[in-house]
Amino acid sequence: MEPDAAQEPMDPARMAARDLTPALGESAAREEAAAARRAALEDAMGVLLDAVPAPMLSIGADLKVRVPNRAFVELDPVAHAGLKGRPLADLLAPECRDSVLARFCDPKMPRGELLLDRVRLASSPRTEFLATCVEIVQDDLLTRWILRLAPETSSARAGIRLLAGSEQAVQERFAALLAVSHAVVNSLDLDTVLDTMVREVRKVVPVDECTVFLLDEAEQVLKPAACVINEYRDEVMALRLKPGEGISGTVALTGQGLIVNDALNDPRAMQVPGTPEERSALLAVPLKVRDRVVGVITLIRNGEAGFEDQELELVTLFAGQCSAAISNARLYEQTRAAYEELRETQSQLVQSAKLNALGEMAGGVAHDFNNILAAILGRTQLLLQSVTDEETRRQLLVVEQAALDGAQAVRRVQEFTRLRQDERFETLDVNQVLLGVLELTRPAWEAETKRRGISVATAVELRAVQPVAGNASELREVFTNLVLNAVDAMPWGGTLTLASADEHGEVVVRVRDTGVGMDPETLGRVFDPFFTTKAVKGTGLGLSVAYGIVTRHHGRIQVQSEPCQGTEFTVRFPVSSVAEAECPDSSLEPLPRLRALVVDDEEPVLHVMGDLLQALGQDVRVELGGAAGIEAFSHEPFDVVFTDLGMPEVNGWDLALAVKSQRPGTPVVIVTGWGTQLEGGTLQARGVDFVVPKPFSMEDVSRVLRQVTERLADAA
Ligand code: ADP
Ligand code: MG
Repeated sequence: MEPDAAQEPMDPARMAARDLTPALGESAAREEAAAARRAALEDAMGVLLDAVPAPMLSIGADLKVRVPNRAFVELDPVAHAGLKGRPLADLLAPECRDSVLARFCDPKMPRGELLLDRVRLASSPRTEFLATCVEIVQDDLLTRWILRLAPETSSARAGIRLLAGSEQAVQERFAALLAVSHAVVNSLDLDTVLDTMVREVRKVVPVDECTVFLLDEAEQVLKPAACVINEYRDEVMALRLKPGEGISGTVALTGQGLIVNDALNDPRAMQVPGTPEERSALLAVPLKVRDRVVGVITLIRNGEAGFEDQELELVTLFAGQCSAAISNARLYEQTRAAYEELRETQSQLVQSAKLNALGEMAGGVAHDFNNILAAILGRTQLLLQSVTDEETRRQLLVVEQAALDGAQAVRRVQEFTRLRQDERFETLDVNQVLLGVLELTRPAWEAETKRRGISVATAVELRAVQPVAGNASELREVFTNLVLNAVDAMPWGGTLTLASADEHGEVVVRVRDTGVGMDPETLGRVFDPFFTTKAVKGTGLGLSVAYGIVTRHHGRIQVQSEPCQGTEFTVRFPVSSVAEAECPDSSLEPLPRLRALVVDDEEPVLHVMGDLLQALGQDVRVELGGAAGIEAFSHEPFDVVFTDLGMPEVNGWDLALAVKSQRPGTPVVIVTGWGTQLEGGTLQARGVDFVVPKPFSMEDVSRVLRQVTERLADAA
């Protein structure tokens, strides 16, 4: 902080402020507080002065320049650069220097208004200005003068009137302006800034109505953004003004503040549609950000009382502050939006990087699992062909279903990591799914509870008759999770109810228990991933997975619960069915016997495929590995080749090309755990005709055999 020059003994300002100097010996703390206040005022003053279009200088009590305003610097940007701290004397042309300085030092000068008459500046000695000056007194201490230059008398008077008048009045106006400016500048939210502007402007000048228009840059129209108005608010807010239209439009176009004291008879004024004609006075000033008009503040005083020039000046100062606040708020908004976008992008990047890593891992695991499941599924289906014992068959069917569900689970992992593109929905009867789930979970609600000496009764009310489109395995997972949660919630036993019904075009499933229920806090978080109250036993994933699956089925899942009253989960699906792919009649005809070559580098898969083909009546030769496959094909013309894709050294692509180069008409079937990631175009270009995804069922193999047969018949 600058030392207060007013304290120096021989300072002329000390004479002017002689009777205001506080008595010596006052507490240092008070001095400090006063100094801090002065510094704050100084900062605010700089901003305020910049908003005034006339050249102005704030001069310290030591007659050195404290702050020049922007307009003053612009008078001569070179000569006026770095003015701060320069003696006022330096700035004045030599011929007027002494007389001006003498007036500052004249102890008989009346306080308040201080008219300095004509001055010339050293930088532009040919231009004569009318200078006016007022003193600013703070804490009973003269701290500075504000000097204002005007090219002609009338505007000099108008401008300085704001600052002139009794010391009291100047103080009050500045105080009001500062308070209001603070209120406006205090927010970074545009709506709050605008709202504060229209409310607070009355503290600076008394008016009946105030409207702030903002310029829509794209449409080039002024739109009311905030207003304080007694009547016809809707009419005013509906107003759209082109620059040049009405008083506010004129101000936006010219960038100059304007007073129109008899709006009824002013050709530029326009009547707001839907409001009565009344005598009123208007004062409008532009809101400018870096010399560009961004809006207009329009004040209205009803009746005869007009506005004075001094008020225009005040509102101009106020508008300068508001413009800065508006510009800040907009910048802040833009920055925040950019930041939000960045954060969003970043979290997406992190998410996708995670998924990519996971995807690569999952892809490999899925491939291996598909091979394993292919062996299990194939063997089971082969056994089912021959076994007749009912109990063994029942168990084999369970194994088969488990393998199919396992394949489905692998596919979901691939889908979760966006590897999977095929989404196959079928027409389902939810009742069948529910009965299956009840069977599947029987150990949990029957054997396990019995072991603990309690009993869980089940009630089944399946009344839905409409179909839904979906994936049975996924829906089984949803309801299995709900049933297991219900059983968990009844540690002392109770009743588990599974119900289905058709309601308003939806199929609704309810899973109800008479268990411990949930408090509102738990209830609010049940669908969050990893939320669990089951400590070690729970993963907290059951319901979030269920939620995802139900959403994918275009359904909704809701929950109702109260502590000690039990819980009810309601799942709704739209009634829907999927057009079944029509089966050609030929599917009933027996398959012709083809000579087939099967190649794979994994023995279990190789043999199960061989055996499945054999069971389907084919004449099969199996070869372990790609090289052996090519060797076999070169000796014997096979009708069709089944080959694994990923094999060391000679892979499926190599084999396919070898086959096509020797006998282009031989269909090649790729059997792969990567099936869903292959694209049609690539396949054809590489000599592959059909794909069988692993794990394959007997049905899959028979379907592809039928396609192969058709292809061979077409070629013949
Ligand atoms: P987990 O079962 O592994 O905890 P879920 O996502 O299936 O994860 O369930 C999350 C939580 O929701 C449970 O830990 C439990 O607090 C609550 N919850 C779910 N179903 C019920 C229910 N039927 N009755 C009471 N609480 C339940
Ligand atoms: Mg659970």
